[in-house]
Amino acid sequence: MSALADEGARALESFLAFWAEAGVDTAFEDAPVDRIAERPRPARASATITPMVQAQAVSPDLAGPLADARRLAAEAGDLTELAAAIAAFDGCALKFEGARQAVFARGAPDAPVMVIGEAPGAEEDQQGAPFVGRAGKLLDKMLAAAGLEGRVFITNTVYWRPSGNRTPSPAEQLVCSPFLERAIALVKPRFLLLAGGASAKALLQRPEGILTLRGRWFDWRSSDETLSVPAMPTLHPAFLLRQPAAKKRAWADLLTLTERLDRPERPA
Ligand code: URA
Repeated sequence: MSALADEGARALESFLAFWAEAGVDTAFEDAPVDRIAERPRPARASATITPMVQAQAVSPDLAGPLADARRLAAEAGDLTELAAAIAAFDGCALKFEGARQAVFARGAPDAPVMVIGEAPGAEEDQQGAPFVGRAGKLLDKMLAAAGLEGRVFITNTVYWRPSGNRTPSPAEQLVCSPFLERAIALVKPRFLLLAGGASAKALLQRPEGILTLRGRWFDWRSSDETLSVPAMPTLHPAFLLRQPAAKKRAWADLLTLTERLDRPERPA
């Protein structure tokens, strides 16, 4: 084999290994499939959910910080002001648990997809941006492979690293929720991708676990019911690092989302 062909074979092997690692292990068919000509699948009714603030009883000691968060979030006219409002907010106990800085968001400010994770980890706390550690690198790889590079805005349910990387409490998520709602109002994504059980639980207020919720559509609604965005829970990339065999399920979720995102508009 010539050196060039050898190099080509190695490149192909490494490309295939990359797809396999991302959970893509099904071969394409020999003949192309015209998906546009296929009859549209009957739309599955998406479940409607109860906004977070209505679903949770707000304890008296949260009422003040929640009102402050709402006021600060409402005053933010753009994402830069929202980032500053979050950094100035003292109503979330996580801020005083040893976090170095507030971690808000990264990505396209007008992205059609908003990815919402759980909470910043150690790397994120250090760098001031969400999903920049190992889990974030896997997330980026999967998003790029699904054609979503540059089309996502990435944030979390809370903006400070919980000590010892514990799961944020529902109260911590609730008090941060006005900032997340404001981010959704400013970015206006077409879809939300909820990464992991803690994110799905906080936004959808449903009792089922992530393995039941993933890959299904829900209607997320803001607490004042003025906003509604289709939301899909999926497996958290940190879980995928521990359970690589689950990657194919997260990959299927991403394809369901991109299929809906890129579905051609049907003529009226
Ligand atoms: N896990 C998350 O849920 N969010 C991050 O930003 C990083 C890791």
